Amino acid sequence: MSTTTRTNPLSYLTDQMNELKAKGTHFRLRVLEDEQEAVCTFDGKKVINLASNNYLGLTTHPKLREAALEATKKYGVGSGAVRTIAGTMRIHMELEEKIARFKNVEACVVFQSGFAANAGTVSAILGKEDFIISDELNHASIIDGARLSRAKILVFRHKDVAHAEEQLASIKDQPGKKLVISDGVFSMDGDIGPLPGLCDAAEKYGAIMMVDDAHSSGVLGRNGRGTIDHFNVHGRVDVQVGTLSKAIGALGGYVCGSKDLIDFLYHRARPFLFSTSHPPSVAATCIAAFDVLEQEPERIEKLWENTRFFKKELGLIGFNIGGQNTPASETPITPIIVGEGRLAMQFSRELFDEGIMATGIAFPTVAEGKARIRTIMTATHTHDQLTQALQMLKRVGKRLGIVN
Ligand code: PMP
Repeated sequence: MSTTTRTNPLSYLTDQMNELKAKGTHFRLRVLEDEQEAVCTFDGKKVINLASNNYLGLTTHPKLREAALEATKKYGVGSGAVRTIAGTMRIHMELEEKIARFKNVEACVVFQSGFAANAGTVSAILGKEDFIISDELNHASIIDGARLSRAKILVFRHKDVAHAEEQLASIKDQPGKKLVISDGVFSMDGDIGPLPGLCDAAEKYGAIMMVDDAHSSGVLGRNGRGTIDHFNVHGRVDVQVGTLSKAIGALGGYVCGSKDLIDFLYHRARPFLFSTSHPPSVAATCIAAFDVLEQEPERIEKLWENTRFFKKELGLIGFNIGGQNTPASETPITPIIVGEGRLAMQFSRELFDEGIMATGIAFPTVAEGKARIRTIMTATHTHDQLTQALQMLKRVGKRLGIVN
């Protein structure tokens, strides 16, 4: 055995974590001990859950649970390979066909996550001669996809269609392809992307139009068909991304579009080519979830009823829920903006002690000075639970001087 003492080559990571601790923005993972529900147990404490993307309560829906169990009995627990080798099961194809029908598009490809769908698609369809015109608040998976593509990235101010158009005009004589991309719903602020204006701009300059509907699938549009349906811009968005991990209740992401786009992604999208496909249980769960979207529209209605009530009451308490120097939420995602990261983390911790799970979010996930806790409504919160949560929020908000 060597007698020389080895210096730790990763000590710079420890230093960085110590810096976060000094800033008060270091976090510990909270551990869920039962089901992802409106009220559940994290770290041994029963809390009202305002942090989950389980918008429609589908994570525990009996039909989805049954579908997962049945598929496991019938097909086993894993797919055994990447899709292009031997990992395409009949049930994967059924899911893609189901989503394509639901979205009224020619075809669909399912990825292992929404992250993989965005990053894998943007990096596959663009190259280094091309341009991506991207909202400044687009999701990290879009940014990473853009970087991987090596396309030139032109960022436009949040939801500023005129600025997006300026960016397109500045490159109109360049030979490369142009892609305009926006989140349908922005994950940290809960506002909706200006799709009609962006579609107009993309059409004017012959650009490809792409939308990430992760937070709008199951939430906006007829039976949760997303922002494309909400704005009725069918046929004008070339690449529609969605996730199966939020309202759909399971895991995965998908891209909808033309047959040629999907065929191209089958051949070129790297997460599709190089990472194993979903277990059959996940595909079966998602198929059942799309049936539930059609069969139980009352879930979406309840989600919006809860959203309207909760937002109104938060505003009445005096919280900054966006709309001044930050975008105004229009969806079940409602941020409570407090400014400093340290305060957001303390707010989150003290809320937890009171009985609320609401995650503190600080730089770099949101801009410096715009730290917040993010609240998310679901269809399964009861009026009583929301009333209790509002009382707790008010109590802690007052104690910390966030509201008067
Ligand atoms: N896009 C947006 C806007 C998101 O908020 C998220 C989830 N954080 C994703 C994509 C990634 O989706 P998934 O969790 O399925 O990877």
